Amino acid sequence: MKRLVIVSNRLPYTVSIRKGEFQLQRSVGGLATGLSSFYKSFGDSLWVGWPGVSSDRLKRGKREELRELLLREGCYPVFLSQADIEGYYYGFSNKAIWPLFHYFPEYAIYDVSMWRDYERVNSEFCKELLKILKDNDIVWIHDYHLMLLPKMLRKRKPDLTIGFFLHIPFPSYEVFRLLPWRSDILSGMLGSDLVGFHTYDYALYFLDSVHRILGLEHTLGQIWTGDRSVKVDAFPMGIDYHRFSSAVQTREVQREIRKFRNKIGDRIIVLSMDRLDYTKGILERLSAFEAFLERYPAYREKVTFLLVAVPSRTKVERYMELKRQVDEVVGRINGRFGTIGWVPIWYLYRSLPFHSLVALYSIADIALITPLRDGMNLVAKEYLATKIDGHGVLILSEMAGASKELGEAIIVNPEDKECVISAIKTALEMGEDEQRERNRAMQDRLRRYTVIRWANDFMERLFHAKNLQKRHQSWKLSDEVLEKMVEDYLSGEARLLFLDYDGTLVPFADRPEKAKPDSRLKDILRKLSAERKNEVVIISGRDRGTLEKWFGKLGVSLVAEHGAWIKEKGGSWRMIEALRNDWKTEIKPILEFYVDRTPGTFIEEKEFSLAWHYRKADIRLASFRARELKSALLQLTENFNLVVLEGSRVIEVRNLGVNKGRAANEWLVNADWDFILAMGDDWTDEDMFFSMPERAYTIKVGFGASNAKYYVDSYTEVRRILRKLISGR
Ligand code: UDP
Repeated sequence: MKRLVIVSNRLPYTVSIRKGEFQLQRSVGGLATGLSSFYKSFGDSLWVGWPGVSSDRLKRGKREELRELLLREGCYPVFLSQADIEGYYYGFSNKAIWPLFHYFPEYAIYDVSMWRDYERVNSEFCKELLKILKDNDIVWIHDYHLMLLPKMLRKRKPDLTIGFFLHIPFPSYEVFRLLPWRSDILSGMLGSDLVGFHTYDYALYFLDSVHRILGLEHTLGQIWTGDRSVKVDAFPMGIDYHRFSSAVQTREVQREIRKFRNKIGDRIIVLSMDRLDYTKGILERLSAFEAFLERYPAYREKVTFLLVAVPSRTKVERYMELKRQVDEVVGRINGRFGTIGWVPIWYLYRSLPFHSLVALYSIADIALITPLRDGMNLVAKEYLATKIDGHGVLILSEMAGASKELGEAIIVNPEDKECVISAIKTALEMGEDEQRERNRAMQDRLRRYTVIRWANDFMERLFHAKNLQKRHQSWKLSDEVLEKMVEDYLSGEARLLFLDYDGTLVPFADRPEKAKPDSRLKDILRKLSAERKNEVVIISGRDRGTLEKWFGKLGVSLVAEHGAWIKEKGGSWRMIEALRNDWKTEIKPILEFYVDRTPGTFIEEKEFSLAWHYRKADIRLASFRARELKSALLQLTENFNLVVLEGSRVIEVRNLGVNKGRAANEWLVNADWDFILAMGDDWTDEDMFFSMPERAYTIKVGFGASNAKYYVDSYTEVRRILRKLISGR
């Protein structure tokens, strides 16, 4: 049985010290309560995180005592000093990531020393994990505090199963790019096998940033990082529905309800409940309620606004300032509209115990939940779960992740005051039948997709992603195959080697002319071709002039323009068939048009082909234009007997029937080869792989669908293989 290791900033228990004794208290948040039941159901499992007391306050002996105590609850502590917490938690996590990811870039502070603290604490988590991890463990890392951890762990344990879930929004590229450490954050997260978000939008924004910043593309949420694949998907987090719905009827909650009712009377209750955070839109909400009272005086004294603000990050200046503002606005509205028997806003600034929370949800006629940005918002879901008789109206911000699942709520734009005012009015006037009908639909969904379902779903996808990777691994050229290949090579009398150039023997450069062969590569090629038994063919899309200049004196055979031209060792250039190139005058203006419209792109002209390169261009625009160009060309090329091919960041037009497979055949049919090797990286090499006999070694550089039997990670691997052939070891 595998073991599940959950990693989050905080443990599901908060530790306090009273009279020198430790006291454990269960944390109340949605993640802690929801996942607690899941991780216990997993059998062998462990939760790793900060226990909530700074290590400065704990002597070594005390730390061991606390570790023992927590281990008995299935928890393993990562001890952090006060300085760690200041820099990593209050600092980078909550002063840079939190505001930026919630679209408050003007609040974000980018401070190098906070970043270092963030890095250090992430590596502290990594260090602690390495002490306890077993190879078969499944690690599930949570949230924005630990975005570097997946990569750190991957480096030390390459085969580990790692999942990552972000509980806050992932912002759009335009906002995310502001972060000075954007690449580190992305590659940190990509250390996982599965990256999960609450909504599809967040997943798309993440994929977009990965594409634009790291240059990695994806297919249906599957990113290929070069040596591994990472799956990205949406998993909307649910709640423990039964826990909330069944609590309503308990004696404790009913007593609490009566207590509230006695104080508020039979007034209509509008509930506002969140942590006191600037992302929650509390001031905007209060302002809308004030405007509502102004506009509809008939509702005065009939409605009570219950404002619950849970203290949060109280040491951060922004939060202190917000607290002052809320206090002031509540005072102003109560002073302005209050009467002897009626306080318009009941204001509770505290964290509530579970039974009070459920009592408030239960008696609220309307829940007004209008965050300016919220990853999910569990309060909205919990509110609905307590509506067992179906009475109650949810007004929900479209900026909350939960709005994607709760379409039957009254959905509002929290920035649009008029919209919020009229939503309150609509809610107040809504008939009981309609309330029930809307709530039933949402409740059905929430009852099915609980937090346990969410966690199980995530796990299932994680296993799936891992299995897929294992399948990929089985195509990777193993040491055993390589050894066999060297053996076959050594025993061969007539050996044929096809080598693609760009991406196979050298890495890509911004412009094709910059990707020159270096002296080490020339040395390899010289040694290979000097071997009497070898026939080495450089099989490339390059023009013959360039190939001649670079390889003319190395004793290798050459194929230029994907097979339009051939030059056997010692011979001269010849064409396989007579080709025309008069079509270029028609096609070139189209490519030029795309160059003008897509900065950073350019045309490479060869004798029998035209190529539009977009490696240097803005990747999103260029990918879009590439699709456009391809379809424009496809319509034309039919008449000219041409093909349009997509290489690595290049679109090429050339004569139909010219391809590397056909060129390779010129050698294949010529002799009785007893060793054949073909290596290439892009899809122009697929024709070559396809035309190879079964016994040939065909190797693709980089993973992807291919006719090749094996793949290797990069050109450095290719060179290693060639050196092995030369040395015979
Ligand atoms: N909550 C709580 N005590 C309170 C008020 C709220 O434990 O006094 C819980 C609530 O039940 C919910 C969580 O806090 O599960 C708030 O989660 P949400 O996603 O709405 O917002 P977040 O605080 O994560 O931004």
